[in-house]
Amino acid sequence: MKNVLITGGSRGIGKECVRSFANGGYRVFFTYKSSDREAAELADETGAIAIKADVSSFEDMKRAADIIHSTSSIDIIINNAGISEIKMIQDISENDWDAMFDTNIKGMFITVKCFLDDMIAKKRGRIINMASIWGEEGGSCEVHYSASKAAVIGFTKALSRELAPSGITVNCISPGVIDTDMNDHLSADDKKELIYETPVGRMGTGGDIASAALFLASEERSFITGAVIPVNGGFM
Ligand code: NAP
Repeated sequence: MKNVLITGGSRGIGKECVRSFANGGYRVFFTYKSSDREAAELADETGAIAIKADVSSFEDMKRAADIIHSTSSIDIIINNAGISEIKMIQDISENDWDAMFDTNIKGMFITVKCFLDDMIAKKRGRIINMASIWGEEGGSCEVHYSASKAAVIGFTKALSRELAPSGITVNCISPGVIDTDMNDHLSADDKKELIYETPVGRMGTGGDIASAALFLASEERSFITGAVIPVNGGFM
């Protein structure tokens, strides 16, 4: 049985990844920051193991690694935990900027550092990072979010080259507009406009993203690495 670690698994896309991988026969570990109740319910529902750990904290993630390594080693990392914020650049504070980068990109660096040895030892592994269409295109009033997601794409491409000789693939998924808590702030009109810009004619679901993650995680995908996989309903 393969072991998968999903960061930010308590809600949204991460939660659907937990469900899909558990249903797909993987042993699932997931982290979260503060949603204790949601995490406990999801663990009960799926049999996954929930660990409260802030992805931007080396200390927290090392503790998570100690817990996991006492019984298992990780075959697949899904670097999913992330935050977003809508602000004009004049209103983005230094703290806002640091929080965005600490969570969205430093968190990936920390997670990979804590679990990479598991994969190197086996000479195989999968790392799947959550980017965003805004990291490719740039989103107005989301400069810090967009820049952090562009960094995810650079991180993915560079790491894929470094780890390919070790049998480890590194890819990112670039979701379009997905119906999760992250987009709860959008007005009905904003949602309508975004759906209008999505040729498929709907917002994506966490399940749409989870199925792409399952695809990339498979043993058969050993020749896909350094890729940015768009899962966006044709969003333009
Ligand atoms: P969400 O519904 O807001 O869920 C975010 C998840 O990340 C939660 O489980 C949250 O844990 C966790 N998290 C946040 N900060 C964390 C931290 N410091 N340490 C550990 N866990 C943390 O967001 P989502 O829509 O599922 O987004 C998931 C990923 O997809 C993000 O990287 C996001 O940028 C990306 N994405 C989303 C969309 C979209 O339209 N929704 C589009 C493109 C990309 P708690 O529950 O404990 O807070």
